[in-house]
Amino acid sequence: MALLHKLLLRNPGGIFFLVAFFAEPRWWSALGFILSCLVALELVGLSSDLISLIDAKHALKILTDPEKKNQRLEPVDIEELKTWLPEEIQFAVFNNDYSTLSKPFFRRSFGLTGKFRKTCIYVRTFIAPPFDYLLKAFISFSGSSFVFLRDNVSSEVNVYDKFKLFHELAHVSKYGIATLAYRYERMLSAIVGIAVILVLAPPLGYFVIGLIIFVLEETVIWLVHPVRFEEKADCFALIPFSKAEVQEINRLFQIQGSLSTGINRGFEIQKRVANMAAYYESRFVKESPFQPDISWNDPMTVVDILALMFFGYCGFQAGNSVYNLSMILMAGIVFLCLVLFIHARLTLRVATKQVELEYWINHYTNSNVKSF
Ligand SMILES: [Zn+2]
Repeated sequence: MALLHKLLLRNPGGIFFLVAFFAEPRWWSALGFILSCLVALELVGLSSDLISLIDAKHALKILTDPEKKNQRLEPVDIEELKTWLPEEIQFAVFNNDYSTLSKPFFRRSFGLTGKFRKTCIYVRTFIAPPFDYLLKAFISFSGSSFVFLRDNVSSEVNVYDKFKLFHELAHVSKYGIATLAYRYERMLSAIVGIAVILVLAPPLGYFVIGLIIFVLEETVIWLVHPVRFEEKADCFALIPFSKAEVQEINRLFQIQGSLSTGINRGFEIQKRVANMAAYYESRFVKESPFQPDISWNDPMTVVDILALMFFGYCGFQAGNSVYNLSMILMAGIVFLCLVLFIHARLTLRVATKQVELEYWINHYTNSNVKSF
């Protein structure tokens, strides 16, 4: 199902060629479809590394901020944590071995000294103001992800604190990484689709409509996705709790929402609180809360369908055209190589940021920052 979703719903170029093939079976459209699928799959990895790089930069920002030099990091004992962490959460967070930077060869070549851990959790405390009260999670697809908590956690903490911990862990789980990368993956695959139209469906009008749909799609995704991403993490974090506990979490979260400053944050929490109970009841919680939603009253689904119909229509129009097979093959291979090259460059950039992160984490873990 997830693969089908990737290869069809998130692959406008592929839809173009697929419809073209059904309109008029020709070799160029079959070849175009195969190449589009390969590019779409490669874009999944590329987007994951892109988001890893962005998050690594954010993590470095809070560690190197000259105003926050008075912080201290205390590692959380992962083995102890695993003794009481619910199975579903443990599985999604720690059973996540695929990482380029976990390989000893790569670690040595980049100068990463510590033992590889996919998820590193620290308690971040401040000795003097300015303080930072927010819990934070920074994800990495090819390297280590980091979670910064405010207080140490144990099986003894109350349900609300457990929920907050599970929420941050949801972000660094394999599902969380995929969900965050989704936005970029969609944007890049739409650009590929528009490039296909520009080359193979010549009327300029198609290209202009394609661009308008693209802008509409991106606007909806960038507006809806950030809150949706938090809601999905909530949804995942609620799995281990009973209905009564969920009600208690919801009540406390509501209080936190009313205290939070900033219109955006207030709005986000309000929305999350409102949807929490419904999400908990819905099938998504028990099955896979991180699966992309497909529902008619979801604006993201509506623009998706609109885009796919448009790309399909362009493919239908181009279906009986005659194209040079070797031109499609060459263009596809060049494009695939380009995407692979950018992906490799991104992985390298992520690696250098991980080295910097390792340095700063060590700095704050070992330093004896004295109180003023
Ligand atoms: Zn969150």
